[in-house]
Amino acid sequence: EAKSAGRNTLRFFDPTMQALVTQRTALELELRHGLARDELVLFYQPVVDQDARVVGVEALVRWQHPQRGLVAPLAFIPMAEQTGLILPLGQWVLRVACLQLVSWSAQAATERLTMAVNVSARQFRQPEFVQQVLTMLRQTGANPKRLKMELTESLLLTDTQDAIAKMSELRDVGVRFSLDDFGTGYSSLSYLKLLPLQQLKIDQSFVRDVLTDPNDAAIARTVLALGQSLGLGVVAEGVETVGQRDFLLQHGCTRFQGYLFGKPVPIAQLRLGGAD
Ligand code: C2E
Ligand code: MG
Ligand code: MG
Ligand code: MG
Repeated sequence: EAKSAGRNTLRFFDPTMQALVTQRTALELELRHGLARDELVLFYQPVVDQDARVVGVEALVRWQHPQRGLVAPLAFIPMAEQTGLILPLGQWVLRVACLQLVSWSAQAATERLTMAVNVSARQFRQPEFVQQVLTMLRQTGANPKRLKMELTESLLLTDTQDAIAKMSELRDVGVRFSLDDFGTGYSSLSYLKLLPLQQLKIDQSFVRDVLTDPNDAAIARTVLALGQSLGLGVVAEGVETVGQRDFLLQHGCTRFQGYLFGKPVPIAQLRLGGAD
């Protein structure tokens, strides 16, 4: 029994597997150092209204690696989730985003912009999550009403009661919540009604072929109708063409995000349209 388990264990750790484990550990160590050496950067992507006026931004993290160059979040966020590094990383993102809000609040042209930050499951599930956010808001002086947190369906489905409690507590001070990648999960209507949410984000996978795939078009229309009937705002992500924008607009969408309006860029390159 023990022998066969041992043999299985040995077989599991084949050379490829071992190489992957080593690679992962190296990346984890590098990210740990990267955090300490301040190698992370926030890029900002505009969110616009029907008239293409910038109403806010989404903060998207990148890793400016000394050798690898600019590393996209999908190359290190999942690892950060698994190792727990997402906790200091998430705190860093929140701090920088809040400080940016504070600097915008000093000018009339930018004081109304909202800042959306992505929150990972592990971050949100910490018992002290709410307290950490409240502390960060207080320490930075950021206006909670300008802060939006993007959560995913899977994150909310696992412990819905706990999620509702946390969201309610933050909503009470003015923080808003958006459901990211909406349509890719399993949310039911009744369940959506329970959550203290303000916005749904149509996943870019539906926006991409909205003009050519009748199923994607139906999903986009359904999300827009759902938002309307539940009193939630809807933002479409991944809008790349005028055709996609027009279709979404026709079906009631009032918030857009995508390369058509601007790619995620470092703060110095962010053009805030009329507000700039
Ligand atoms: P997301 O929150 O759904 O972000 C949208 C992604 O779509 C971003 O990729 C953005 O650059 C990309 N995008 C925006 N407009 C367009 C478009 O018109 N066309 C196309 N093809 N793509 C577009 P990015 O920056 O690589 O981020 C990927 C994911 O990484 C994010 O998905 C989010 O889940 C995660 N992420 C990014 N920053 C953070 C962070 O600070 N914390 C956490 N926990 N996750 C983050
Ligand atoms: Mg997002
Ligand atoms: Mg998304
Ligand atoms: Mg996505």
